[in-house]
Amino acid sequence: MEEENFRLQPDWIKEVQAKHVLHWNYRGFVEVPRELQHAGDQLEEIYMKWNYISQLPSWFTAIDHLTNLYLFGNEISYLPEELGSMTSLSVLDFGHNQLTNLPASIVKLTRLRCLSVEFNSLTQLPSDIGKLKKLEHLKVNGNKLKYLPNSISLCENLSELIADLNHLKFLPQNIVYLPKLNFLSVKSNQLRFMPAVAFFKSPIEVLVEDNEYLNYLSFDMSSFIANSRIQMGRDEVFDFCNRKEKSSSPSDQNLHLISNSIHLKNSNEEVVLPPTLNKLHGHANKGCIISLQEYCLRIVYSMIYRLNRLNSSCLQNQISNILPVNITNLFLDGPTALCHRCKKPIFREAIMILFSRAIPLMNLNLIKKMKLTVFFCERSCYYESDFLEKDSILQREIEWVS
Ligand SMILES: [Zn+2]
Repeated sequence: MEEENFRLQPDWIKEVQAKHVLHWNYRGFVEVPRELQHAGDQLEEIYMKWNYISQLPSWFTAIDHLTNLYLFGNEISYLPEELGSMTSLSVLDFGHNQLTNLPASIVKLTRLRCLSVEFNSLTQLPSDIGKLKKLEHLKVNGNKLKYLPNSISLCENLSELIADLNHLKFLPQNIVYLPKLNFLSVKSNQLRFMPAVAFFKSPIEVLVEDNEYLNYLSFDMSSFIANSRIQMGRDEVFDFCNRKEKSSSPSDQNLHLISNSIHLKNSNEEVVLPPTLNKLHGHANKGCIISLQEYCLRIVYSMIYRLNRLNSSCLQNQISNILPVNITNLFLDGPTALCHRCKKPIFREAIMILFSRAIPLMNLNLIKKMKLTVFFCERSCYYESDFLEKDSILQREIEWVS
């Protein structure tokens, strides 16, 4: 202890003692100065950007009045679990460090409004990140994330989510229900699809450029991504056929998805659909009937949703006690799509139209040819929809090949 005291710099002690906001950027520190431990109790904001600090010592977490901590541009590869005890924190910036993980306790920071962990090496975020109810800004761009936790849809104050430059293949479906989200950037990922349901909050800016595998957009989602409202209509309607499962009976035109992909007739293209969707019903088939299970999912979800409005945590408590886990998860993740005509939720079975359309992408002088999908809950909605009347698709019914 004596030796430690010996190393303390009296000038620094004085400086720390005199301040509530400490600016120690660009100081060349290789560790968090011990002076903070001895004299930093009253500090509320600490800026130590662009140093060479490699770890946050556990004693640091005793500075419990701290509200803002900026450690952008250091070499931190590990954060102590004790971080979760710094419950005054509202802004945390660990951008440009070497983190591979966040401590599970970070979700205890219930006052956190801004969390930036951009440009680290994170492979996942805490699964219960939804506990951060005050979180408004989340920057996770430039990491190695393959998915975002479903519970992110419980961050009811989230207005900005930046997740560019990761390895995301899909987004949680429920993300569209975030009531305050007005900026979502998921550029440069490996997204195969966007959620099919339109965003609850409007207007919202959604950036999806440089997702080379993005193979289709739902018609409802497309207007959030294009910089002008996409008009109904049809440029090119695809016929598609079931890739592997050949039906023995030509009259059986129910289409089953295999590994959630459909294969376009007359081209080598493949369209990958959401993993929750596991059956497409051919609209030309007079006998097609949605399964009882799908009907039940739709009815129960609609009942619970009506009772609870958007209060998802209440929903979770109510249904997790009475329903099997996989059904609960389906509900919590939300419907795969909404029927284009009646807005009924669609979970695992749908009637779908697929067509191709040139879309002017938001913020880019680029017109990209995208495939668009329109989902219907059952045949009656398909036949009665305005979409079909206006565009006379009905007259040229798509031939589904099984
Ligand atoms: Zn419908």
